[in-house]
Amino acid sequence: MSQQQYARAKLHAVRSRISKICLEQRRSLNSVKLIGASKKQSPDLIREFLNLGLEDLGENYLQEGISKIESLIEPTPTWHFIGQIQSNKTKLIANNFDWVHGVDRLKIATRLAKQNTREQSVKILLQLNLDDEHSKGGVSQSQAPELANQIAQEIESIGGAELRGFMTIPKARNTYSEQTATFAKARNVLELTNQQFGIGLTELSMGMSGDLEAAIAEGATMVRIGTDLFGPRD
Ligand SMILES: *Cc1c(COP(=O)(O)O)cnc(C)c1O
Repeated sequence: MSQQQYARAKLHAVRSRISKICLEQRRSLNSVKLIGASKKQSPDLIREFLNLGLEDLGENYLQEGISKIESLIEPTPTWHFIGQIQSNKTKLIANNFDWVHGVDRLKIATRLAKQNTREQSVKILLQLNLDDEHSKGGVSQSQAPELANQIAQEIESIGGAELRGFMTIPKARNTYSEQTATFAKARNVLELTNQQFGIGLTELSMGMSGDLEAAIAEGATMVRIGTDLFGPRD
């Protein structure tokens, strides 16, 4: 099988899963954005997916991401930074990526806003830590609405960035009902935040290869798919 045939089959399989769950949930297909989580995948393989119409890529590591941004320019994807953010890297992140998932402190959000020298604002998602895992970043459900509001107000006055919603990377769960129960918490946080503060957040970035159906059932607007799209990483 050529690399192109491989990419076509993989992309088709993931898109079919997304269509099937959207149909079941009576959600429109274009309400869910597919982000290819392309860390550790070769630019040549990723290019095949772009040529087949994949429009969004997510990268975790800054240097690797920037080198791909420089080499994958036609067609130009929308770039998402989905890795952990170090505060001394915010300037490069803000000026190279369109979306930044995984913001979990006011300081990071304000730095992204202030350091963005581009015309368009960088779109930010606040990371939720739904399992209270200390190894992962993110804010707890109880702190999230207040912090989201604070970030939204602060960066609105600075310009350069906009808060759009939440992202989460929950622990892998064994059953569909455990998966949906976890993603439902994120949906709740989004609804609560909008009710309390009226800041009109719309995005939920959640769902990976193993749980995209449950995430979409609970309102994901962006799914980040690595393994099931590109294959195993080295
Ligand atoms: C690697 C990664 C993904 C994709 O994970 P898969 O299980 O390979 O689909 C999604 N989100 C983040 C933040 C990642 O680091």
